[in-house]
Amino acid sequence: NLEVGIVGLPNVGKSTLFNAITKAGAEAANYPFCTIEPNVGVVEVPDARLRTLTNMYHPKKTIPAVMRFVDIAGLVAGASKGEGLGNKFLSHIRETDAIAEVVRCFEDDNITHVSGSVDPLRDIDIINTELCLADLETVQRRVDRLAKIAQCGDKAAKAELAVLQKILTALEAGEPVRKVALQDEEKQTVKELNLLTIKPILYIANVAEDEAAQPDANPLVQKLTAFAAAEGAQVVAVSAKIEAEIAELPDDEAAAFLEELGLSESGLTKLIKAGYSLLGLINFFTAGADEVRAWTIVKGTKAQKAAGKIHTDIERGFIRAEIVSYTDLIACGGEQAAKEKGLVRLEGKEYLMQDGDVTYFRFNV
Ligand code: GDP
Repeated sequence: NLEVGIVGLPNVGKSTLFNAITKAGAEAANYPFCTIEPNVGVVEVPDARLRTLTNMYHPKKTIPAVMRFVDIAGLVAGASKGEGLGNKFLSHIRETDAIAEVVRCFEDDNITHVSGSVDPLRDIDIINTELCLADLETVQRRVDRLAKIAQCGDKAAKAELAVLQKILTALEAGEPVRKVALQDEEKQTVKELNLLTIKPILYIANVAEDEAAQPDANPLVQKLTAFAAAEGAQVVAVSAKIEAEIAELPDDEAAAFLEELGLSESGLTKLIKAGYSLLGLINFFTAGADEVRAWTIVKGTKAQKAAGKIHTDIERGFIRAEIVSYTDLIACGGEQAAKEKGLVRLEGKEYLMQDGDVTYFRFNV
């Protein structure tokens, strides 16, 4: 399961947003494999295709894909030096696949800002500095160790050192590692260091309730958007307060409330979509009389590996995948018709799964 860590300075609206996420949370019973800790919110990934498939198969249950959000509170200036709850939180970030950074863009005199004023770019800089410092320490430690081995003529150590030097230079300049141009091979080399600033990031602009429909009118959001664009990062504007209210409502009322506010979708949905695109995720489906289910994979995942999402036994005993694209399936009106038209393909283990593939894995037990 892919996991997004929510970070941000104190008082920017993280808990408010996180509570909304937990309240909107997925039915835990459907996901027995997710142990749900208090700082983890598991939300269903909205995918309209699931409903269509459900209407076609009439399964006993329908199970959407989920995304995990982890609330990583406690990041303050000095965290890398152990200020606040410092290092503990940095190690939580290490375990996530991506970072969503909540940035305060709402003005409210009643809510103090830890740095005295509302300024998204300064806030981002504070957090970025802490994360860079933590990475700097990690990389420096590794460099020190490698230097000795490299002196003895170890080629691999020398190669790794060269990559680390590049990274070190960037970090010393306060540049996150994600901005360093690294070849795939070089990325592989540093993978086990689990660097914080190499993780993909998106910014969540927390705007006032009355700005949620038109967040781009807020000059702070404009600044943030320009900054993120230069970094190749995305901005999702939400109003944490509105999200908290929506999470309390039943689905139909939530939809009416959104419409009333002039919003086409909830901030949470926007956030999940942005997370999907940030992490390069797609969904494939399994469908039958028992269950219709969406599964999340990274774009470029091969069929055999995708089978492992369902069960390691299916991956191990993989024979073939029977696949029909969602579009073909719907156009034909059903599996049988799709088969007759030759649209259900038999694919091997190297097949690259496509978004919307409706899949049946054949495997040896
Ligand atoms: P955290 O410290 O980042 O987790 O921030 P909280 O979620 O606890 O929010 C801090 C305060 O800001 C709380 O009193 C929230 O009710 C308030 N707050 C959060 N989002 C908004 C918002 O969009 N507008 C306003 N006016 N207040 C907000």
